[in-house]
Amino acid sequence: MTETAGSMKLILLGVGAPPPTPEKCGPANAIVSGGKLYLVDAARHAATQIVKAGFSIGGVDHLFFTHFHSDHYSGFGEFFISRWIMGGKTPLRVFGPSPVEEIVKRMLHYYEYDIDLRANEGKSRDGAEIDVTVLSPGDSLEVDGIRIGVEKGTRHGNVPDILSYRFEAGGRKIVIASDGSPTEKLVPFAKNADILVMHPCLPEFINENYGGFRETAKIVAAHHASAEEIGQTATRAEVGKLVFSHVVPPLAPNEKVMEALSRHFGGTIVAGEDLMIL
Ligand SMILES: [Zn+2]
Repeated sequence: MTETAGSMKLILLGVGAPPPTPEKCGPANAIVSGGKLYLVDAARHAATQIVKAGFSIGGVDHLFFTHFHSDHYSGFGEFFISRWIMGGKTPLRVFGPSPVEEIVKRMLHYYEYDIDLRANEGKSRDGAEIDVTVLSPGDSLEVDGIRIGVEKGTRHGNVPDILSYRFEAGGRKIVIASDGSPTEKLVPFAKNADILVMHPCLPEFINENYGGFRETAKIVAAHHASAEEIGQTATRAEVGKLVFSHVVPPLAPNEKVMEALSRHFGGTIVAGEDLMIL
């Protein structure tokens, strides 16, 4: 499918999960509009993936977090410091649910030593600063002409603060639901979206090896959405395309995920791959 250069796109920067694997980077996405990239979650290798997608790190000025499980921000520090080193001159704008301010504060503390070394040689500190915005369900904002909706579209185990994002520009609507089972808010929030991104869990593929303990596997399964919940959400929201990524457990085969989702959604289903453009 070809799109005009100006239309908003989604790039799946990483479709993996916590276990590092050679095939998949950690869960992160990018919205591209007007030639600029807007990062959604900053998983491991997010900085490298942005470069592989053909963008300069120094030109990425916005980062939206869905929630703060480590796999969604393990690449935050690397992205932030690389952006500054690679020419980012304005404060990075970071948006997310609580405790985004605390996470940012701690991450800055971690790099303080390096920032001081470089600043003492004359590098401006401007790009090494962060402008934080705490978001709550129901918020909406506009960034560079992209309308952004924020909702608690999922329920994710014991994570109290998690956000789904809806990006609208140039007649396209892209919804990134994030981890967890759909709340009653997700169908209206994602109604008629061109793309809905969700993360299915196939509990039958979780074994005692995942995370080391059988109990961990059970907890992980309880935190995530079933294929049935995701397929039904996509059907009720009448989305154009259902994209799945960040599958739990990561060894669940894509064909099985596809098969399970297609029992509940008759539309187009896309098995997400790293660097896929939609
Ligand atoms: Zn999570």
